[in-house]
Amino acid sequence: MTDRYCVMGNPVEHSKSPWIHARFAELTGQDLRYDRLQVLPGDFPRAVHAFRAEGGHGCNVTVPFKFEAAALATRRSARAQLAQACNTLRFDGHEIFGDNTDGVGLVGDITGNAGVAIAGRELLLIGAGGAAAGVLGPLIEARPRRIVVANRSHQGAMDLVQRHSELGREHGVALATCALDAVPGAFDLVVNATATSLGGGGVPVSDGVLRPRTLACDLMYGPLARGFLDWAQRHGAVPRDGLGMLVEQAAESFRVWRGVRPPSAAVLAELRALMDSQS
Ligand code: NDP
Repeated sequence: MTDRYCVMGNPVEHSKSPWIHARFAELTGQDLRYDRLQVLPGDFPRAVHAFRAEGGHGCNVTVPFKFEAAALATRRSARAQLAQACNTLRFDGHEIFGDNTDGVGLVGDITGNAGVAIAGRELLLIGAGGAAAGVLGPLIEARPRRIVVANRSHQGAMDLVQRHSELGREHGVALATCALDAVPGAFDLVVNATATSLGGGGVPVSDGVLRPRTLACDLMYGPLARGFLDWAQRHGAVPRDGLGMLVEQAAESFRVWRGVRPPSAAVLAELRALMDSQS
């Protein structure tokens, strides 16, 4: 029997995850099927239990359900525990194992695919939602000099940083928070982990955060990321969309589910070529 997985979220119709996992399965000889499942607000726990009852083996979780996914998991990896957000659930008998592969995906894309060092650099993380929560721990472990977290709700940024303060001390990383309209200075790396690109909300910070050659990443990809990427380019920064992170976090989820690491760089190159040919 073919093993079943899916991505649950809202919206989810733009997701490239089914294509990526189908390609990973082909390249590693794994027998699985991966679908998209649009879930209504308030219906997430029911949707997970129903998918599991229908024989599902696990799922990815995207906006806005990552915190609910962490609450639903009966066992969590250390990185998911720190994030209090899960993007990967695996159904292990009676247990629901929750993990978070977003951070490994982002760091792998920046340092591996883009070839940009994080160690010793100054980093601005915009957002404090499920995606930001998932990436902050692995970003700290990459040992930048300083990370400032800016969020629309300043309290959200403070809570997130508070949870990571011990990890920051352990790795010698200075952590600070600020409001979106009061970001102090400019940075080597800027990561937009808000849902502004997804929702058409525009760039959430001023161009003063950019230096010449700052790597400016938006976790969004496809046409919706265009506004942020064009803004970065106009101000002399190096734009990077979230496609590489998407493929890298998917590869790590695939490993969590199947115990096999698929060839992520090759699949990213294929996906980028496919999307370029469609635009
Ligand atoms: P959440 O809903 O959990 O969090 C949303 C975040 O965006 C919060 O920080 C929120 O601020 C902020 N926000 C929302 N609207 C606005 C606005 N109008 N102005 C300023 N800030 C705003 O979403 P996620 O964190 O799960 O996802 C965020 C984005 O990251 C999505 O676009 C998602 O597609 C993308 N993503 C991409 C991945 C990839 O692999 N490439 C992986 C994971 C996510 P507040 O706290 O104040 O509400």
